This record gives sequence, C-alpha cells and structure tokens, in this order.
Amino acid sequence: MTRAVGEAVLELVEGNIVDEVTDAIVNAANRGLRGGGGVDGAIHSAGGPAIMAECRRIGGCETGDAVITTGGALKARHVIHTVGPVYSGSPRDAELLASCYRRSIEVADANGLASVAFPSISTGAYGYPLDEAAEVALRATVDAMRAHPSVRKVRFVLYGATAYQAYASALERLLPR
Ligand code: ADP
Repeated sequence: MTRAVGEAVLELVEGNIVDEVTDAIVNAANRGLRGGGGVDGAIHSAGGPAIMAECRRIGGCETGDAVITTGGALKARHVIHTVGPVYSGSPRDAELLASCYRRSIEVADANGLASVAFPSISTGAYGYPLDEAAEVALRATVDAMRAHPSVRKVRFVLYGATAYQAYASALERLLPR
C-alpha cells in the first residue's frame, strides 16, 4: 500500500526489516541500547558487532528519543535506534510513541538521509495494542514527513499479516483514497 505525502512517499509492506535496502532502518531498542529480542535481536544478529560497539559508546537513549549508528553488515547504511514506551494505558503512551517516529525522522534529516524503514515500535514485548499503535505511528510519521520533505521515502516493514492489516486499515482511515 502506497500514499503520497507531498512530494514524498509512504509505503506499507509485509516483511523482515533486516532485508531492507535503504539509508536507515529503525530499531525498536531499549533505554540501555543493550540489545534484546524481537526486531532488536534480529537487527544486531544480521548487522554484526559494529552496531553494538557504537551503541556502547553512545551509552543509552531516553524513551521517545532516537540515536544513529552504522548499519554494519546490513544492506541499510545506518540504524536509527529509538526507544518506544512500555504500554501502560496512560495518555503518555501515545505521546512517547509519536515522539519515536518524529525523532527518528528528525535524526534521518539531520544526517542527510532520504529513505527510512520503520518496524511497528512497542507492539511486541512492550505490549502496545496494534490497532492503537498503528494509528499513532502513521499520524506522527505523516506529520514528520510534512515537516521534513527531504526524507523522500518512508516504509513500514510489518512483520506478519496481522500487523500489515492493522497498519493498512489505519492508513486507509488517515489518508483515504
Ligand atoms: P518492542 O519492545 O518495541 O515491543 P519488539 O521487537 O518486541 O519491540 O516488537 C516490535 C515489533 O517488531 C513487533 O510487532 C514484532 O512483530 C516486530 N518484529 C519482530 N521482528 C521483526 C523483523 N525482523 N522485522 C520487522 N519487524 C519485526
């Protein structure tokens, strides 16, 4: 599924983010940048030790913020590590989740990157309900793309059909054809 956002393009695909050929893929990291399971584990095992070496040097990242490292052995040149909220049911969850997408696109722009791929942040181990997360993620991403038009291409790489469907329905509501 594809939508134009000004001159830029927003795409949803089902797949594995480690296979993306793009300027940066985004990692759903933790505050210590210490690596974990889920998409974080997949990115570090495919990208090799150079990514963790930079993460150690950076030291950590606050919830809702983002930092950038090399892509190591990945096909992506960089990894942007952002830390999603652990879902608690409070209105703060959506603010922090939106901030992850906004800050990641700001970091991409600040580093001259034109293409970024996101996973569905916080919807695995961090327990954010998929439909709610999809709406927050897409709204924040579209807003950030409008503010940073030099980021020309943003793809959501959704892991499995359920995640893809949730994002496709949310995007249809947000930017109807
Ligand atoms: P969090 O701790 O932010 O919840 P997780 O990695 O547990 O992070 O899950 C975030 C999302 O990433 C989940 O929807 C999960 O299905 C998805 N995911 C897991 N592995 C991959 C992958 N290789 N590519 C893309 N998405 C993935």
